[in-house]
Amino acid sequence: MLPYMDEVYGNPSSLYSFGQDAKEALEDARARVAACIGADPREITFTSGGSEADNQAIFTAAHLGAKKGKKHIISTAFEHHAVLHTLDRLKAEGFEITLLDVHKNGVITADEVLAALRDDTCLVTIMYANNEIGTVQPIAEIGAALKDKDVIFHTDAVQAAGHLHIDVKEQNIDMLSISGHKFHGPKGIGVLYTRTGIRLETIISGGAQERGKRAGTENIPAIMGLAKALEDAVAGIDENAAKLTVLRDKLIEGLDKIPYGELNGDAVKRLPSNVNFCFEGIEGESLLLLLDDKGICASSGSACTSGSLDPSHVLLAIGRPHEVAHGSLRLSLGEDTTEEDVDYIITAVTDVVTYLRNMSPFWRDLVDGKRQHVFEK
Ligand SMILES: *Cc1c(COP(=O)(O)O)cnc(C)c1O
Repeated sequence: MLPYMDEVYGNPSSLYSFGQDAKEALEDARARVAACIGADPREITFTSGGSEADNQAIFTAAHLGAKKGKKHIISTAFEHHAVLHTLDRLKAEGFEITLLDVHKNGVITADEVLAALRDDTCLVTIMYANNEIGTVQPIAEIGAALKDKDVIFHTDAVQAAGHLHIDVKEQNIDMLSISGHKFHGPKGIGVLYTRTGIRLETIISGGAQERGKRAGTENIPAIMGLAKALEDAVAGIDENAAKLTVLRDKLIEGLDKIPYGELNGDAVKRLPSNVNFCFEGIEGESLLLLLDDKGICASSGSACTSGSLDPSHVLLAIGRPHEVAHGSLRLSLGEDTTEEDVDYIITAVTDVVTYLRNMSPFWRDLVDGKRQHVFEK
């Protein structure tokens, strides 16, 4: 990114050669990003991040549908808020939204999508992998099922890009959102893939950048950073997944020994990097603070909802009761995570959960039988 801040810092829309160098870099990055997901460079639009890409994809597909009198949208109950809140706005415009149940394992089937399909369905938007519990949806199967239908299939692939294989043509994906900072790229930069033939609706109006579909001078350093990070992530995808899956399963096995706790989401159909547990009788916030003291950066729910006291809508969507949803812990593994780290985390989490339960009147009630346990063991 550095050369694009202090050497090639021209404006790609300028005609002088200095600007044209930046323009060349921009188009090179576009082609490299396209190659990472099996798209054509003309199908790639750079946005300010995953949220903007989700907004633009969903408004585009919905409004194209409305022109044909189709105002029904299918999604799931545990999408990111960038999707759910956009759908809320469309509901206020008169769209009808079906949110599919994601079941206890956090995975839906292509048949369930097909069963919800109506003549007036214009858009199916289903996330590739969930950002809290890491469950992975059968995107290729859903794409195949929708292939011959007059409906746009969008997937929020922010958690999948750089971590799971993506081929938009093979998987029959019409629109797809990506965000740089979910694969070691910079923040504030994202990608919207839009299949040729779908006319993107402009959300940011102004100049003619990004073929008139996204105004504003391009953030060249961030775009170069995103392209490089995505290429690196995709190049190491299998090796990284194999390594992380072993560590993930070891961590799950260790945390599963803590009584009255349970893994959230399917144990197999999940991101290699994701571990998410609920523990009875625990406040997620206290757990995080005590783990932070031990040098462990964990989260409860998602970074986007921290600061709100509501339990995670994702955990409620898989049927966790409120009191348990408050006691959740999300750990993400990365390529630098070691087996020693995993051992250390298992011990630390076990100790902190025991410590917090010993101080908790709520836990006392469970032990004394004044309250019912949610989990069997
Ligand atoms: C992080 C995230 C987003 C939002 O991306 P930003 O780049 O932060 O706007 C959207 N969807 C999912 C699944 C995410 O994990």
